[in-house]
Amino acid sequence: MNFEETIIAPASGNSSAAIALIRISGSQAIETTEALFKTRKKLSASASHTLHFGKIMDGEEIVDEVLVSLFKNPHSYTGEDVVEISCHGSVYIQQRIIDLFISKGLRMANPGEFTMRAFKNGKLDLAQAEAVGDLIASDSKASHKIAMNQMRGGISNDLQALRKELIHFAAMIELELDFSGEDVEFADRTGLMNLLSKLKQHIQPLIDSFAYGNAIKQGVPVAILGKPNAGKSSLLNALLKEDRAIVSDIAGTTRDTIEDVIILNGIKFRLIDTAGLRETTDTIEAMGVKRSIQNALKSKMVLFLYDRQDTTEEEIIEMLKPLFDKELDLFLIENKIDKHPHKEEFLSRDVIAMLKQHFEAVNEQAISAHQAESVHELAENLAEFVKSWHQDDQMVITQTRHLHALKSTLDSIHDIENAMEMNIPSDLVAQDIRLAIQHLGSITGEIDVDKDILETIFGSFCIGK
Ligand code: GDP
Repeated sequence: MNFEETIIAPASGNSSAAIALIRISGSQAIETTEALFKTRKKLSASASHTLHFGKIMDGEEIVDEVLVSLFKNPHSYTGEDVVEISCHGSVYIQQRIIDLFISKGLRMANPGEFTMRAFKNGKLDLAQAEAVGDLIASDSKASHKIAMNQMRGGISNDLQALRKELIHFAAMIELELDFSGEDVEFADRTGLMNLLSKLKQHIQPLIDSFAYGNAIKQGVPVAILGKPNAGKSSLLNALLKEDRAIVSDIAGTTRDTIEDVIILNGIKFRLIDTAGLRETTDTIEAMGVKRSIQNALKSKMVLFLYDRQDTTEEEIIEMLKPLFDKELDLFLIENKIDKHPHKEEFLSRDVIAMLKQHFEAVNEQAISAHQAESVHELAENLAEFVKSWHQDDQMVITQTRHLHALKSTLDSIHDIENAMEMNIPSDLVAQDIRLAIQHLGSITGEIDVDKDILETIFGSFCIGK
């Protein structure tokens, strides 16, 4: 990819809207715009961060009346000169304008190229650039919050600081190697051990946060389970009504399954294979139950529905048995409480205690799906339950790339610790430290380890003196 060229792209999608935004970045951005844009004051003579009204001209023909925002380097998203044209939203107008600029020597931007340039110019690190992608894709309050946090430097700041300390140690150990004939020790071994345990304390929670982060990003997989006529499809419908945000059907992981995506209290849930619930014939077949069990195994959470007038404790245990010890969270939901005065608990405490041994968590709730009674509370409880998976102030990762890099860092840290304990020669320890630095650096995109180490040596003190 040639970053010398000036690029252009529609920034607001390719469909018609009242207004569209076309973004241009590169050294020719201002000059080319001046050639096509008729306005009172020359852009090159204007200050950065100013707005200009005028006309985009194709020779003598007015293509559109537009507003041009001007951002001069380095104070722009990409760090280059950036011009943003707000034109009328017709696809035809957008295309005409883009064609005009391309005829003047600009080229269409590749996907993500503006952000890539921002990264290359140090406006964002790699983790932040990835968060921009997450932010654009965010569709719930929780996923928005995580992406925003990361874009603002969330995990980068912490990791960069720790990495710097590690680089310092690597530099010191490398220095010892230069003086290998003499018995000198520049690197403070106790300090290094302390730093390693600090790193582990930072990295392990980040690794653990991935399960939550990923569930938030993709949607928490949930299965609705219960005997035929327990009210599963009624509950599904009641929950879909609860959803005040987006409701969409997306293709499930297997053929002819449907997943309903719902957002309850800011958390996205993927209701796994709810197609069967909509087909009345399916629910009267025993097959329906079997299939639901299969689906439940693919989920993280199981909503198990029962009607006390149509079931026994033994039946419930029997149905849940295939789900024992599968790291699932269970919501036991008694349905149809409108049919009888709900007084004593149906399931004995012994049974609940037993179930708690086989599920990650067991929650109980009584509802009437039909009357939409307590369905709202159920929706709230589901969302609250997911939120309880992690502490609010805790950093969350959502990228598999980060997960792998963090795991590799942890492996290298263990290697360093082992090497130090076994008094392995410094050059091998240095190698392990370099590896850890590299893995950490890959998250934010600063992986030029050798250069970093050299800079630290020369930067911290004058070795030639
Ligand atoms: P599914 O087979 O588990 O999907 O159950 P359905 O949702 O189709 O419900 C089975 C029957 O129970 C239907 O006649 C529903 O109208 C009825 N039903 C569902 N929920 C309730 C409820 O909360 N109260 C009452 N009284 N009837 C319900």
